[in-house]
Amino acid sequence: MTANSSPASARTPRHREPHSISLVIPCYNEEDVLPELRRRLQELVSQYSCPVEVVLVDDGSKDNTWSLLAQYSREDKFIKAVRLARNFGHQTAITCGLDQTRGEVVVILDADLQDPPELIPDMIKDWRDGYDVVYGQRKVRHGESFAKKFFAFAFYRTFEKIAGLKVPRDTGDFRLMDRRAVNALQSLRERHRFVRGMVSWIGYHQKALLYDRPERFAGTTKYPFRKSLFLAIDAITSFTYAPLRLASYLGIATSALAFLYIFVVIALKILGISFSGYTSLMASILLLGGVQLTVLGILGEYVGRIFEQGQQRPLYLIDTIQGEPLESAQHSSCKACGQ
Ligand code: UDP
Ligand code: MG
Repeated sequence: MTANSSPASARTPRHREPHSISLVIPCYNEEDVLPELRRRLQELVSQYSCPVEVVLVDDGSKDNTWSLLAQYSREDKFIKAVRLARNFGHQTAITCGLDQTRGEVVVILDADLQDPPELIPDMIKDWRDGYDVVYGQRKVRHGESFAKKFFAFAFYRTFEKIAGLKVPRDTGDFRLMDRRAVNALQSLRERHRFVRGMVSWIGYHQKALLYDRPERFAGTTKYPFRKSLFLAIDAITSFTYAPLRLASYLGIATSALAFLYIFVVIALKILGISFSGYTSLMASILLLGGVQLTVLGILGEYVGRIFEQGQQRPLYLIDTIQGEPLESAQHSSCKACGQ
């Protein structure tokens, strides 16, 4: 049992296969991986007798992603292709995909096959044991730069300390969720979304599934350092106001320094030692200016988020939806049983 998994006594095993399964896959300029992804999904879907839908969300791609997804949804009945009006970002594309699902269990995975679809049966086994969330936790991460791994390492540890929320380390968004966990997640409509943190926040029974994370199958990462940094800032600002407290600490520390400085100057004056004021004046102006701007910047991050939340714009806009796999599957099974 992992640190985050719940004791067996608290869970009610389901002892059955899910009635229906949904997969959510955000895609941004992924034309190179889509044919292989489709092949692997076909293999997975053929193993299940229950209805399976795969919701592929095109997050405003500029390459051939949409034409491929539209073609797949025409040819494979299990595919639902959703095209967003523009690029809204990975976390929002996941949210859109979740909103579109109807399955009893939902699995989120990346398009680049770094989250192997072949692990889904193992996740479903844990779901049968009564878990509501089964998240993929990386044992080894192949093909990622040292800087990226170090950033992830430092982020998870810092986040846990300052936010007081245990987001399992070394995880992405690869996870299976029971319908009740999906409903809970959908009720959180905050604009700046850190999905894996939000899933931790909802609780229920969660378990890790350890796996070796392979390299991206093709193409390049859509998460350059800048985007990872913004996600980290979103994560921190949406779960804690610790940085604002840090601003107060900075203020207190600077005031303490100023008092110390005044004390030293007076003591030197009494001892008859005087020195030119220009250097110390410049130093204190720069120090105070720097501290004030930093504090204002931190405050600005929160005020900006309050502003955006206050606007109440929709989280995303959909351009096109193609295919309705679960509806047709449920419909045909109704016909089969004559209802
Ligand atoms: N993605 C997206 N919108 C974006 C950026 C990425 O939908 O603006 C998708 C991308 O297509 C992939 C997933 O998010 O399916 C994760 O991206 P990527 O694999 O590039 O991230 P990495 O694994 O390098 O952190
Ligand atoms: Mg990837």
